[in-house]
Amino acid sequence: MSETIDLAILVVAAGRGTRAGQGLPKQYRPLAGKPLLGHTLLTLLQAAPEARVLAVIHPDDIEFYKQTVADLPRDLAKRLLPPTFGGETRQISVLKGLEALAQQAAPQIVLIHDGARPFPSRGLIDRARDTAIAHGAAVPGLGLTDTVKQIDADGRIIATPPRDRLRTVQTPQAFQFDLILSAHRKAAAAGQEGLTDDAAIAEWAGHPVYVFEGEQENMKITTADDIALAEAKLARTLDDVRMGQGYDVHAFGPGDHVWLGGLKIPHDHGLVGHSDADVLSHAITDAIFGAIGDGDIGSHFPPADPQWRGAASSIFLAAAVEHLRKRGGMLAHVDATLVCERPKIGPHRDAIRKSLAEIMGVSLDRVAVKATTSERLGFTGREEGMAALAIATVRLPL
Ligand code: MG
Repeated sequence: MSETIDLAILVVAAGRGTRAGQGLPKQYRPLAGKPLLGHTLLTLLQAAPEARVLAVIHPDDIEFYKQTVADLPRDLAKRLLPPTFGGETRQISVLKGLEALAQQAAPQIVLIHDGARPFPSRGLIDRARDTAIAHGAAVPGLGLTDTVKQIDADGRIIATPPRDRLRTVQTPQAFQFDLILSAHRKAAAAGQEGLTDDAAIAEWAGHPVYVFEGEQENMKITTADDIALAEAKLARTLDDVRMGQGYDVHAFGPGDHVWLGGLKIPHDHGLVGHSDADVLSHAITDAIFGAIGDGDIGSHFPPADPQWRGAASSIFLAAAVEHLRKRGGMLAHVDATLVCERPKIGPHRDAIRKSLAEIMGVSLDRVAVKATTSERLGFTGREEGMAALAIATVRLPL
C-alpha cells in the first residue's frame, strides 16, 4: 500500500538560532565539514526514496541554501522542491511551507521535520508515514528514564506524574495533509499563536494525535556539544582513514608582513610567491590533496595561471577541503610545523589555528600548529626563507 501513497516532507529550517556557535545560522554550521541542513536533507532523501522534500528557509539564507543543495547528489536533489521562505515563528513557517505544497500538488501525507535533526532512520520515516495513514496525525515519542516532577514558582514539587504515560516528542511529525493544513489555517485565523509543535496545532483543532516509537539517535542539534556528539557519530561511519603529507618553502623578500594560515603577521620581510606565499596554508593544502590521492596544489592551481596572482591561499585550502567533502569525507586532523628563526610563531599560534579552523570548517581541536628554528643551520637558519610541513588525517566512507 505504501508505494501508492504520495508523500512530501517539509523541512523547517527558517530559525535564526546561532547557539551552536561560529556566528552562522545553526542550520548551516558545518557538521563533519558539511552544513547541518545538508546532512538532514541527504538523510531524508535517502530514507524516503519516494518523497518530495521542501525546505522552509530564512530569506537571508538563500545563498547558504543554494550551496548546501549544490553539494547533494544530483539524482537525490531532483526531488527537492524550490524552497519557501518562512516567517517570524516556527508556526508561521510551517503554514507557509504547507501552503507552498498545496499550491504545487498537495500530497496525501506530509511529514514535518526539524532541519536540525540530521539522523532520522528509514524505519522512523516508515513508522511516521504508516501511523499517519492509520490515524491521521502521529508524532514520534520516547519514554522517560528519569522521574519527572512538576514544580511551582518557588521550586517546590507539586506533582509526580506517572512516567509510563509521559513521552518526549521529536520530529518528523506526520499528518494527513488536508488535516494539518486546515488545522494550521484555522489556528492562524483564530490568532492562536505560540503552539510549539504541529501535534499541538492538530490537538488544538480537535484531532486525536497518536505517538509512535521515536529514536534516541534522532537527536536535535542545538548546542556546540551536540555538534561534537553528532560529529563523533558521523565519524563512526567513515572507516577509511588516510593520511597525507605536505611540504612547502618560500623565500623572504622585501615587505612588512607574512601570511601564515590565512593570518597576516607583521614582520620585517615578506614572503615571495605567485600567490600570497602563505607557506603554511600551502603545506596543509598539499597534505589534504595527498590524503585523498588527488594531485597537489600546483595541479589544481597552476602557478602559470594569472588568476592566482596574489591570490589568498585560503582559497586553495578551502578548495582542498571541498574536494574531500565531495568524496563524502571529513577532515579529522591537521598537524603542521613551521620552520623559521623569525617571526616568532608562539604569540600568534592560537590565532593561526583559529584562522585555519575557520577556513577548513572544522573545530579548533582538530588543528595543531607548531614551530621550530633550525638552529641557524641551512636556508631557514640564515633567514633566507621559511619552510612548512603538514600532515592531514582524513576519514572517507569505505
Ligand atoms: Mg607554496
